[in-house]
Formats: sequence, structure tokens, C-alpha cells
Amino acid sequence: MKYKICKKCGKSKPTTEFYKCKTNKDGLHGSCKVCQNLYHDNYIIEKREEDLDSYLETKRKQSSNFAQNNPDKIKEYKKNRLINQICNILKDHADDLNNDSERLHSDFILNIIESCKGVKNNGI
Ligand SMILES: [Zn+2]
Repeated sequence: MKYKICKKCGKSKPTTEFYKCKTNKDGLHGSCKVCQNLYHDNYIIEKREEDLDSYLETKRKQSSNFAQNNPDKIKEYKKNRLINQICNILKDHADDLNNDSERLHSDFILNIIESCKGVKNNGI
């Protein structure tokens, strides 16, 4: 029986323990079947992990792309959400505000009330 030293594990093994390889001089692979299979398994596991990584990366990019490509929409959405929240608070205190002229002189509150009207007129 012929023996061949595996270049991966360095063990001397019968040539039947090596896969055939036409491109090699002796017609056999440089590494034994065990090492080849190990290499193959690792390759598949690595490949799968790569695929998963790239899949997750793609998903992440898709969602952040929307935010990046539509910064105005996001800004508008956040602004409207904030205004709506303030509107709801103001609604509860509408009577207080109407009866409190000093507070109504505040530009800040006036701006909010104007914004509220704007949002309501836009039907949001
Ligand atoms: Zn080996």
C-alpha cells in the first residue's frame, strides 16, 4: 500500500485516504480526506456567516437609506409628531391660555399655536 504525507495535518496516510486530483503529479490531493472535509465544512460555515452578515448589512442599509434619502420627510414627520403632541397638551389647557393674556404674548407659544393651526389645516 502506498503512503502519502498530508500537507495539512502532516500525517502519513494510505493513498486511499486522499481524494483524487488530476492537476497534481501523483494524481492525489495534497491534503487527506479528513483535512479536505474539514476545510470544506469550515468553508461552508464561513460562507454562511458571510451571507448572513451581508444580508443583515443590506437590511440595515435599506432602512438607513430611506432616512438618508428622505431627510425632509423624516424631519417633517418628527416635527409634525412633536407639534401634535404639543397640540394635544395645548388643547387641554386651551381655556387657561385664552384667559392668560400674558402667556399668550410669548412668541414661543404663539408660534406653537400657529404651527398647530397649520398642521390642522393640512389635515394631519
Ligand atoms: Zn490531513
